[in-house]
Amino acid sequence: QAPQPKPWIEAIHAYVPGKSASDFEGKDGRPLIKLSANENPLGTSEAALAARADAVVPSLYPDPDSNALRAALGKLHGIDPARILCGTGSGELLSVAASAYAGPGDEVLYVRYGFSLYDIVARRCGATPIVAPDDDYGTDVAALLALVNARTKVIFVANPNNPTGSFLPKGEIARLHAALPSHVLLVIDQAYAEYVAPEDDDGALSLAASSANVLVTRTFSKAYGLAGERVGWATGSTKVIEVLNRIRGPFNLSNSAQATALAAVGDQAFVDRTRLHNREERARFAGKIEALGNDGLRAIPSEANFLLVLFEGPLTAEAAYEGLAERGYIVRWLPGQGLPQALRITIGHRRDMDAIAAALREMAEAAR
Ligand code: PMP
Repeated sequence: QAPQPKPWIEAIHAYVPGKSASDFEGKDGRPLIKLSANENPLGTSEAALAARADAVVPSLYPDPDSNALRAALGKLHGIDPARILCGTGSGELLSVAASAYAGPGDEVLYVRYGFSLYDIVARRCGATPIVAPDDDYGTDVAALLALVNARTKVIFVANPNNPTGSFLPKGEIARLHAALPSHVLLVIDQAYAEYVAPEDDDGALSLAASSANVLVTRTFSKAYGLAGERVGWATGSTKVIEVLNRIRGPFNLSNSAQATALAAVGDQAFVDRTRLHNREERARFAGKIEALGNDGLRAIPSEANFLLVLFEGPLTAEAAYEGLAERGYIVRWLPGQGLPQALRITIGHRRDMDAIAAALREMAEAAR
């Protein structure tokens, strides 16, 4: 008899990433524009690229503890590096957090339309995923709290959330944390935090500094433009970080990943440019979607680098997805996440966002 996976592993569906350009035929030699994975349209900091070119030492293992990068992150955010752990993308850290604190018989809680990886990381450690209802596509703190019980071990809240872009202000995050029993680990996934205006900070890093049961995760995949290098980090109490450190992958950041991310931390001007570009183009694109309100299009207010556009009129999300692909734009259609009526569109360059808005208008008029 062949080896049998554990029953809870059998129940997992593999993570479905956004489509890549290679999944489509380019038409008339035009390049395909990928706005399906929330990558940075401005690319990567020049300083980071230069450091990457110098970093390659393939024959030697990297620093197992990413010490220089942790020191730089600690300095930037005012955190003791002993409270920082780096991961192969923040995805690794979400996974080790669930594995360390939840197992068979336990519950892992998150909101409907939360990040799809939460389901996988909950199931892979044998825990039961519990999904709280949303509040018009946003995170509903009361609904989450109503589902907390003695079996709840981990709560995942992405802020801003993916795929909706919705954001919980500081007061709501504080209210959620204050009402939680101390045995529950609250994981605040800040993959898109750099896109939030500094004055709207949700207070997650301070909570992680002052509480024994808060873990904050961050990534270099979005605003730092380093999705391909696979770098994430997390901060929590010394105890939580020490526990997660035991089970993360050894040598989990390559030489090039450490060197590139270190230089990227040093180029905050690039991150600032990214935030400002995103803020301006997101508002411009949202305005154009709002103008299509009579055709049933609606964008959920977003603090991230994408907009979730709902199709509640004659033009369906599926038809819009296909029409955009025909025009060379790859966006994210999410039927597998219970959102067959929505497209998640990464904010790209102005010319592309204008072209997408014009194409949506054309398709909506044709569908009337
Ligand atoms: N959290 C959220 C909310 C995300 O959207 C993503 C990327 N899609 C991640 C975590 C994981 O990103 P990475 O592993 O590249 O850091």
